[in-house]
Amino acid sequence: VLSTMQDVPLTVTRILRHGMTVHGTSQVTTWTGDGAPQSRSFREIGERAAQLAHALGELGVAEGEVAGTLMWNNAEHVEAYFAVPSMGAVLHTLNLRLPADQLAYIARHAGDKVILVNGSLVGLLLPLLPNLPALEHVVVSGAMTEEARTALAAVSGVRVHEYEELIAGHPTVYAWPDLDERRAASLCYTSGTTGEPKGVAYSHRSIYLHSMQVNMTESMGLTDADLSLVIVPQFHCNSWGLPHAAFMTGVNMLMPDRFLQPAPIAEMIESQRPTHAAAVPTIWQGLLAELTAKPRDVASLTQVTIGGSACPPALMKAFDELGMRVFHAWGMTETSPLGTVARPPASAAPGSDEEFAYRITQGRFPAGVEGRLIGPSGEELAWDGESAGELEVRGPWIAGSYFGGPDGEPSRPEDKFSPDGWLKTGDVGVISPDGFLTLTDRAKDVIKSGGEWISSVELENALMSHPDVAEAAVVAVPDEKWGERPLAAVVLKEGAAADFPVLREHLATSGIARWQLPERWTVVAEVPKTSVGKFDKKVLRGRFAEGALD
Ligand code: ADP
Repeated sequence: VLSTMQDVPLTVTRILRHGMTVHGTSQVTTWTGDGAPQSRSFREIGERAAQLAHALGELGVAEGEVAGTLMWNNAEHVEAYFAVPSMGAVLHTLNLRLPADQLAYIARHAGDKVILVNGSLVGLLLPLLPNLPALEHVVVSGAMTEEARTALAAVSGVRVHEYEELIAGHPTVYAWPDLDERRAASLCYTSGTTGEPKGVAYSHRSIYLHSMQVNMTESMGLTDADLSLVIVPQFHCNSWGLPHAAFMTGVNMLMPDRFLQPAPIAEMIESQRPTHAAAVPTIWQGLLAELTAKPRDVASLTQVTIGGSACPPALMKAFDELGMRVFHAWGMTETSPLGTVARPPASAAPGSDEEFAYRITQGRFPAGVEGRLIGPSGEELAWDGESAGELEVRGPWIAGSYFGGPDGEPSRPEDKFSPDGWLKTGDVGVISPDGFLTLTDRAKDVIKSGGEWISSVELENALMSHPDVAEAAVVAVPDEKWGERPLAAVVLKEGAAADFPVLREHLATSGIARWQLPERWTVVAEVPKTSVGKFDKKVLRGRFAEGALD
């Protein structure tokens, strides 16, 4: 029996229309450094998105074609977020931290016809241009240097436009087409930590459903009374879905643009008084050091979403003491990205050790994401909090394939998708009987020593709980006897006195089994980071192989 309900497509256009009317007065505020922050209402954003859509149409961007963005988090980037998918084209957010060859690779792979770029990033775009045969137009938003302007003008085969001039004079309304909800709305490439970047094409429907999920109280649960400091880049899985979610519920957004260093972030918090913020642990470690050196008023910020890599318990505790309550979340480019959020159950008393133990897990799956653990011989494991296996997930905002395989069709590599269509996450962990996921490692980072597994994350967290340690990364190194052994690379705080035996003993007293304690140690000035700010263990392992760490 068929239902009697309306079959209304779930599209980004609906999110835009809703946000610019029902929440028309909510604001997107962009930080400008020394100048006054620039604020624009959701209504204005929507009107300018219509203007942008007209302009892009005139440049020849047709339905199904790809428009790229090489931009920081700012109001213009939000305009592109809504204009491009709503006109039926596909938004491709280019990760500006990728090395030039990978950037060129993904822009070419996606077939970007237009690239919108911030003036401050033109220098990054210029060397890519000769390698982008499909590119016809570059649209520059914000100031650029005279040198950049001259260099851009000299590139043949590409027409250059200035954003404000381009959209000026166009109507502030647009007859948005009716779109099939299963069409691609935006494209995001994995950051390539695990090889060549792979494209995930989010659909209108997946974005819509994911945004509703982000808004649930179990996830971020923000309202129009909130101001969210969106530090996680718009090129990193759509800022974890925040701009779309914000247009659904009127959440005000504070966009840091290019000012991502700890000092301006601290200043933004103090002066703009956001209630929520989202970023990877590295950003927060930097902010913590900044706040320790120069205390600021951060009292407004009561909810912080941390994900992208495991949140060190020491960081969560330090933030708790500052009144910034951390909510830990797990996800991947392939999962839109929200896969789990750690909101403790009502049964755990606030402030108790039990509650903390829940909060430091990766969290529970929301309705809409199913998870299962697969053991070494392919069997499904029990949710008993002990059986460790690879996490596989399935759901309406989880990727079922990658964009544009070698033959142009979506690809479903066997190492990424199970025969019955679940996404293989490459993450290893356990799930408790009450559904809380604890990741012990990425499959490729786990240290296999004498037939047993050592969790690199567990060692790192224990090391980072020592007061002298600023950061620590642990990687597997080949060992004749054991196959692999852990090597600890430690960044010490300024003036720190701890030496390796002290740190080793600290690990032992933190509950790490003796046989898991590293015997190889090195002090590094900085842990190398990936383009989205995660520990780059590939680089660390490479350095060890070259003998640079030994
Ligand atoms: P890439 O795979 O290129 O690094 P992603 O941003 O898609 O880019 O990374 C997803 C991966 O990040 C996950 O598979 C997982 O290993 C890691 N990750 C994300 N969030 C967490 C978290 N809260 N705890 C531990 N690992 C996490």
